[in-house]
Amino acid sequence: MQSKLGAVRRLGVFGGTFDPLHIGHIAVAAQVSEEFELDRLMFVPAGRPWQKETYAGPEDRYLMSVLGASDASFSVSRIEIDRKGPTYTADTMSSLRSFYGDEVRLLFVAGADAVLHLGSWEKLDSLARLAEVVAVTRSGFELSQLSPEPWWPAVRMMEVPNVDVSSTGIRERVTQGLPIGGLVPPAVELYIHTHRLYSGGASRKTP
Ligand code: ATP
Repeated sequence: MQSKLGAVRRLGVFGGTFDPLHIGHIAVAAQVSEEFELDRLMFVPAGRPWQKETYAGPEDRYLMSVLGASDASFSVSRIEIDRKGPTYTADTMSSLRSFYGDEVRLLFVAGADAVLHLGSWEKLDSLARLAEVVAVTRSGFELSQLSPEPWWPAVRMMEVPNVDVSSTGIRERVTQGLPIGGLVPPAVELYIHTHRLYSGGASRKTP
């Protein structure tokens, strides 16, 4: 498969609920792309995350990711949105490995809060055969507490400038009627207001 920049040899895969996508996500994606000289950074919104509750529906979270991840080297995948049942990272990476072939270097990108739970991820031994994990710093979470086991995927730690923004904080601000300009890309802000997400009105929470 060709990107605008040529063949994809290094693919970053950024999983998350993106409920909503915010400037912290964009900053991480840009930094990791530069550091690892990625040909493409693919945002993969989770369909039915098994470890986390979501508030906006999968289609809303997918569309907000498309609207916000507008850099030419970014893309957004429906692979987990369209999958039935719980979405495991190892399954996603397996599909991407089949699609892109054995030559591509797959890097799964996650923040320190997510990586600190790596030991509880499903099919970790399969994931280890498919991809490396790029663990980026996040304030309040200490990556030095991670003690990787030999059967885990290789973990590449990367320090990124602190962007103290979370989706939880943004949802709370919307619910309280506070502005979110500058915390999410402008198109995401418009989408949230137009579709009355997180405003505490009609519940759009998914099971
Ligand atoms: P929530 O507040 O709902 O838990 P979140 O802000 O952590 O959401 P997610 O969509 O769960 O956003 O995050 C996707 C990935 O991005 C995770 O691996 C998370 O650790 C990472 N991430 C999110 N925000 C930041 C940030 N500000 N700095 C570094 N990593 C981040």
